[in-house]
Amino acid sequence: MDGAGCEAVRSTCPYCGVGCGVLLTPDGAGGLDVRGDPDHPANRGRLCSKGSALGETVGLGQRLLAPQIGGQEVDWDTALDTVAERFSETIARHGPDSVAFYVSGQLLTEDYYVANKLMKGFIGSANIDTNSRLCMASTVAGHKRAFGTDTVPGTYEDLEEADLVVLVGSNLAWCHPVLYQRVLAERKKRGTKIVVIDPRRTASCDGADMHLALQPGSDVALFNRLLVEIDRAGALDHSYLTHTQGLEAALEQAALDDDAVTGLDAAQIAEFCRLWIGTEKVVTIFSQGVNQSSSGSDKVNAILNCHLATGRVGKPGSGPLSVTGQPNAMGGREVGGLSNMLACHLDLENADHRAAVRDFWAAPFVPDRPGLKAVDMFRAVGNGRIKALWIIHTNPAVSMPDADAVRDAIAACPFTVVSDITAATDTARLADVLLPTSAWAEKDGTVTNSDRTISRQRAILPAPGATRPDWEILAEVGCRMGWREAFDYQSPVEIFREYAALSGIAGRFGRDFDISGLQDLGAEGYAALAPTRWPVSASRQGGRFFAEGGFYHADGKARILPVSWRAPAARTAPRYPFVLNTGRTRDQWHTMTRTALSPRLSAHLAEPFVEIHPQDARALGIGPADLVTLDSPQGKAILRARITDAVQPGQVFAPMHWTGETAPSARIDALVAAVTDPVSGQPESKASVVRVTRLQAA
Ligand code: SF4
Repeated sequence: MDGAGCEAVRSTCPYCGVGCGVLLTPDGAGGLDVRGDPDHPANRGRLCSKGSALGETVGLGQRLLAPQIGGQEVDWDTALDTVAERFSETIARHGPDSVAFYVSGQLLTEDYYVANKLMKGFIGSANIDTNSRLCMASTVAGHKRAFGTDTVPGTYEDLEEADLVVLVGSNLAWCHPVLYQRVLAERKKRGTKIVVIDPRRTASCDGADMHLALQPGSDVALFNRLLVEIDRAGALDHSYLTHTQGLEAALEQAALDDDAVTGLDAAQIAEFCRLWIGTEKVVTIFSQGVNQSSSGSDKVNAILNCHLATGRVGKPGSGPLSVTGQPNAMGGREVGGLSNMLACHLDLENADHRAAVRDFWAAPFVPDRPGLKAVDMFRAVGNGRIKALWIIHTNPAVSMPDADAVRDAIAACPFTVVSDITAATDTARLADVLLPTSAWAEKDGTVTNSDRTISRQRAILPAPGATRPDWEILAEVGCRMGWREAFDYQSPVEIFREYAALSGIAGRFGRDFDISGLQDLGAEGYAALAPTRWPVSASRQGGRFFAEGGFYHADGKARILPVSWRAPAARTAPRYPFVLNTGRTRDQWHTMTRTALSPRLSAHLAEPFVEIHPQDARALGIGPADLVTLDSPQGKAILRARITDAVQPGQVFAPMHWTGETAPSARIDALVAAVTDPVSGQPESKASVVRVTRLQAA
């Protein structure tokens, strides 16, 4: 009960993958009082600036409250019939691969499950991909290559037990602030050491013992050096290595890399290696700086190699830990929301897995080849292969690399549906059909955070206007396309139970993701579901993976993979002499559709900017707060200059939040090349090339 005697509702913060628990109470004026949930294991009552301002973002301003076709309001039957008919017609005329869904890590697991079932089981294409492709696809690929499944071995509790926390390509202080608070608290209590590996000096460096400002994209060379030094120091864990294969080849390959490409001096590298090797309990946290790279999967495996070689996997205080950007990026991975995955960590390329899922769904077919990954999907929209597209809770006209080309492709698509809470996004403006959805505080379901903890999201506010939850909209379209039996869901708990039962099949195939222990959950049990770390089965409950081996490759062994450094795809040249790094600020989220509604969040960094090193600013005649133009081969942006030695000479940094709505000339992803990692399909958002010029007064 809160102070006013109202029962607070337990839910989950809808921003980042930390997955903090929140206590919500209506404030009596249409808003919410939001506090950290002291009982949630992710945050124990803590919240960051974004989480604590959530109550300011739930107003009805800019909400889409009724379906629209061609800008005119229509009733739901008309809208849903139109979507079902146009998708059915397109499939009949051009085949199932002529349609696609582009969804989001903002979806709840139940929404995601229905979208995936509709596309992969009934439409019969694997053309469903998610904006999580931009966030952590390289980690998924790295995990699968090393472990045999996309398994996060450790838990957040490892942060309290580690003696060394290494942040690679992760500004944890701003992007996953509550985890950073947990690390800092331990530092204060026990002197936990912190190392930051990042080309830029970020806020995470403020509390760190060491900052390795390596050259963009050179992480593989650094971790290959670490692997070689582990061997030289006699620090290989020979007993654990019986659970692995590939060390020799990986060592041979690692020795060929020249760590000079990191730009770090030898003494710094040696000190880092000594610290890492000499500290038994080390957690290596990695995030977008690793993932958003044309060699992202290899970077992930270079990190995993070092942990596997020393047996530092899945043990208290020891292991690799990828942190996801979005609240339900993990849930999306689990339900098979990526175009190359089946539900419940089953494999699209495995005929037995496909047959089991098809039989479970009583589906006509499950495709036997992967669908289009995000970048390729929008290319296929642009070249006319995709003729009907459904975009759900995401804003690709701003957030995809080469965003201008993506915007033009969507505009030219014969039929585009957008489901969102607002019509005021660059993407929604391009839709033929707009479907109004329930917002975060209005809908029920589950999300999974970065340490495999499933938490409930609970509705506390009434759904305004004609808005509906996503699972219901997707299921209605499935029914109207002729598959009523498969999509006749009445509530999210029904969907969750079906999903949990399907995971039992995955468990019988020996896969890691098994929550079959929750398949009999009734409505009351679902309503009361406390945060629960998977797996949840008869044989296993939560905990860590792989401390004693038990990997998911056929021979039960992990793979230590030979990887070698590759430079970022775009090379600087006299015309484009700067490397552009993109990222996030502390108080904004994605394309600001929610956080911009909070004045105190917007006050932190109020306008789009670019960080430039003082030496470069001098050479270009740029002064503090001057307007500058950034040109890349893809596009152009105008930003305010912030002159700082946080960036290295020859490099600039700009946040990606501002959009056509908030700052039409500052769409940063319009500058980013649509170059991807060949394994994961994740775009290289951290190393584009640009020219910087001072904007002359007219
Ligand atoms: Fe929300 Fe992430 Fe902040 Fe937690 S750390 S309150 S999940 S934004």
